[in-house]
Amino acid sequence: MDELGIQDWQLPDDIWDIGIYDAHCHPVDNYKKLPAGLKNLRTSKLTVMATRLDDQHKVHEAALQFPDRVVPSFGYHPWFTHLLYASSTPPESKSQHYRSVLFPEPTDKFLDLLPDPVSLHEFIKDLTINFERHPYALLGEVGIDRSFRLPKSGKQVTYELPDSDDEQPSRSENECCEQDKKRLSPYRVTLDHQKQVLLAQLAVAGKYDRSVSLHGVQAHGVLFEIFNELWSDFHVPTKKERKMNKDEKTQIADTGGNASSATPSFPTRVCLHSYSGPPDQITLWINKRKVPARIYFSFSVLINQRYGEKFKKVVHAVPDDRLLVETDFPLAGEKMQALQAHIVSVVCEIKGWKLDEGVKILKRNWNEFVYGESSAL
Ligand SMILES: [Zn+2]
Repeated sequence: MDELGIQDWQLPDDIWDIGIYDAHCHPVDNYKKLPAGLKNLRTSKLTVMATRLDDQHKVHEAALQFPDRVVPSFGYHPWFTHLLYASSTPPESKSQHYRSVLFPEPTDKFLDLLPDPVSLHEFIKDLTINFERHPYALLGEVGIDRSFRLPKSGKQVTYELPDSDDEQPSRSENECCEQDKKRLSPYRVTLDHQKQVLLAQLAVAGKYDRSVSLHGVQAHGVLFEIFNELWSDFHVPTKKERKMNKDEKTQIADTGGNASSATPSFPTRVCLHSYSGPPDQITLWINKRKVPARIYFSFSVLINQRYGEKFKKVVHAVPDDRLLVETDFPLAGEKMQALQAHIVSVVCEIKGWKLDEGVKILKRNWNEFVYGESSAL
């Protein structure tokens, strides 16, 4: 972090006018403050993430209320996956469920603090409904987190501010101060369970041809394996085949048939949000033979700036047309705007782009990521 305070970062008006896009943020964490926060925010569009059961409807409402500013993203974050049971029938008991998805084995005292789990299948039905009613909605925030531990209180992590509190939240997800560490239990969600929840959601995103905003902490190898596996039987189509496939889709749509039968069964546009993996792995992800999807890498000041020199190397390693910027911030307003200005400036500097040139590239990338290649401006 440099010595300038976050609030001091600004961009000239003509740069904002080109259009600046936040590829990943959480303003529904402070939903009541969203209308006021959006009023003076210069960011053109916000890709607004859902994370758990009780914020999916907030993302839906925000997209209805601000259709020009909010691009909704529905999904279930790895931090909350223990609250879902994946079996088709409810588990025998609450403790049986939690003992099967948490490790080390939780104590009875801790289990008492946790709510009854709910059905993953029911969540998937809601996700489908949300995709049906928002044709451009993404899947997110989903992923794998191997470092996250449940809070001792058994409560869900939230960055919601009390109504009376006008203070800005001081940190974003993933960032964990010493005080928080003391509040954490030793319990983590098993990788198998996180994977099951992720794969169920990816299948829906594939069916509806939606982009994915992906969270990965201490899981870069695992995530890569998951995606590599998803595409293992897939033949990368040639240009000619791609054109034929496109024509076929149009025909199916014209006849009122089911267009999804012509789409691949996995998502074709994926963003590794606040990417914190090594630079070498970027080469692996963008190798079409290994993962034939279009992979994007997004960066935020809150998560990535602390990586110093490594951050520069990583940004350099990302192809120009796969780079995105984000705030990952839970409150719309002044600080969100400053964070956006900051990451745009830093990324342009590292890439050696003039601001206006860089902002145009980032704009095109965001449009391609969200709407697909043909919709790029
Ligand atoms: Zn996030």
